[in-house]
Amino acid sequence: MGFAIAIDGPAGAGKSTIARGAAKKLGFIYVDTGAMYRTIALGLLRMGVDCSDEAALAKALDQITVSIGYSGGEQQMMLGEENVTGLIRTEEVSRMASISSAVPMVREKLLQMQRDLAAAHNVIMDGRDIGTRILPDAPLKIYLTASIEARAQRRFKEMTEKGTACTIEEIRADIEERDLRDMNREIAPLRQAEDAVLVDSSDMTIAEVTSRITGLARERMQQ
Ligand code: C5P
Repeated sequence: MGFAIAIDGPAGAGKSTIARGAAKKLGFIYVDTGAMYRTIALGLLRMGVDCSDEAALAKALDQITVSIGYSGGEQQMMLGEENVTGLIRTEEVSRMASISSAVPMVREKLLQMQRDLAAAHNVIMDGRDIGTRILPDAPLKIYLTASIEARAQRRFKEMTEKGTACTIEEIRADIEERDLRDMNREIAPLRQAEDAVLVDSSDMTIAEVTSRITGLARERMQQ
């Protein structure tokens, strides 16, 4: 078993930026579990599957193969033989990932893959249920959050820099809708693990949050 750092929190809290940076500093592998849910979502969208139709969903999941690779230290998502890393960040995929990830069958498909990665490597894994369900014994758990205003501003900046037309109100509504769904679903709802360290990044820079996490990791690794 490697040393595992679990980072959970709502959309837009900065989990992936922070986890990627901290992983580099610590020499750990960064595992973005949201990207795995997004890859399944892309597969479901392409197949036109309605998530409320259990039989159709089960059939589609049988046909969807998700795997993960690394290129230059960056996680690559494969849907079958296709590298879809660049195709899973659209709002349409975000929405479908949030809807489909509430279905137990979808979560089951990814659970073992996530645990196997943590068994084989030192990982920083981010998601919604890493500290509560996937890696309940992780020696360091972080619950990374930020105010809805800060999160909406960050996502808006990211989208406009990419040239995607959107308004701050749309982004804010989308984040609120996803928060609500992620926190209130029956299976693996987003919540802070009892033994997680709460970090509110609203008024912190990326460098500050990253160094807080690497500092905690170094302390825990010595214990
Ligand atoms: O983190 P990211 O926004 O990429 O995740 C996309 C969606 O996947 C989330 O809105 C959430 O519903 C789902 N997810 C999840 N459990 C995880 C990671 C992501 O349910 N561990």
